[in-house]
Amino acid sequence: MTRSPDVITLLSGGLDSLLTALLLQEQGLNVLCLHAVSPFFGKKDALPLWKERYGLDIYAMDVGDEFVEMLRKCPAHGYGKSMNPCVDCKILLLRRARQYMEQTGAQTLATGEVLGQRPMSQRRDVMNVIMREAGVEGMLLRPLCAQLLPPTPAEESGLVDRSRLLGICGRGRREQLALAARFHLEHIPTPGGGCRLTEREMARRYWPVLTRLAAPRTADFYLANLGRQFWGRIDGKEYWLSVGRNSGDNDKLEAAALTDDALLVPADVPGPLGFARGGAHWPNEALACAAALTASYAPKAAVLCGDVRVHMLTGNSAGVLAVTPGRASFFKEAPPWEETRTEIREVTRRLLENPQV
Ligand code: SF4
Repeated sequence: MTRSPDVITLLSGGLDSLLTALLLQEQGLNVLCLHAVSPFFGKKDALPLWKERYGLDIYAMDVGDEFVEMLRKCPAHGYGKSMNPCVDCKILLLRRARQYMEQTGAQTLATGEVLGQRPMSQRRDVMNVIMREAGVEGMLLRPLCAQLLPPTPAEESGLVDRSRLLGICGRGRREQLALAARFHLEHIPTPGGGCRLTEREMARRYWPVLTRLAAPRTADFYLANLGRQFWGRIDGKEYWLSVGRNSGDNDKLEAAALTDDALLVPADVPGPLGFARGGAHWPNEALACAAALTASYAPKAAVLCGDVRVHMLTGNSAGVLAVTPGRASFFKEAPPWEETRTEIREVTRRLLENPQV
């Protein structure tokens, strides 16, 4: 019979969570690592490499749907500097980790949080709120800063040797790098796990998806990661177009197509793939603009005089549009960061004024 894990650890792929898992494993504990995956973070493809490189037992934990649901309802604790709802995110991840803990019979949870490292989610008061709202009080160990926190039941029972845990605080990296050297880590991951919600350019992609689509789905946010993004509005209805930047984008866009999406493929010249979300139902005016914009990114189309043909493919139909390549249309790039930030702040302000909203 397989032995139950002693500890469930959240592993983002950043240095702190990796050190946490190694520190516990060094004590002889059976550590099971959960790597959360969503459109915004997570590197599922890296798991085989990490398992081999670090000798850890790692499982992917898909939280995409729950995360998108949380964004749609508005994160109760607001956003950080970009579009990162860190407090709500941690609550969500810990709730899920707790479920794993109960399913596997593990005795405690651990995270790589460091007291005072991040202003939004790693202050002592906020860390307590996260524990309480996630329902993991008395179960959560933070090995990198445990010496600065009250002992947890896992330490009091002797499961975890508190004397071998650390008392790191603040934003410095010196102690983590020394620990990485002690574990002979040749590849030092970046401090965080590479969450795209903290990046302004990515927030510019995600915010329109969240605020302009009537019912944004997880697949929509995956789509927002691809290609150049354009939005247009006709008669109050939003139209969303992605145009591949390279063959990798084109392949992923093609793979992402659902039955009622339209793929736009220049017919006479090599060029990018255009992806019209829900394009099977778009009016001809919007499709023609999308095809003209897509064709404008085909380098050879620019030197051709006159119209070019663009194939339009949906799950159930195919057609050809003759268009003049051009970028002057009602499709625009997503608003600049300053405008997006203002909108995000406005939402956050309303949330703080009225937490029930
Ligand atoms: S940075 Fe991203 S993954 Fe990390 S807590 Fe914040 S929202 Fe979650």
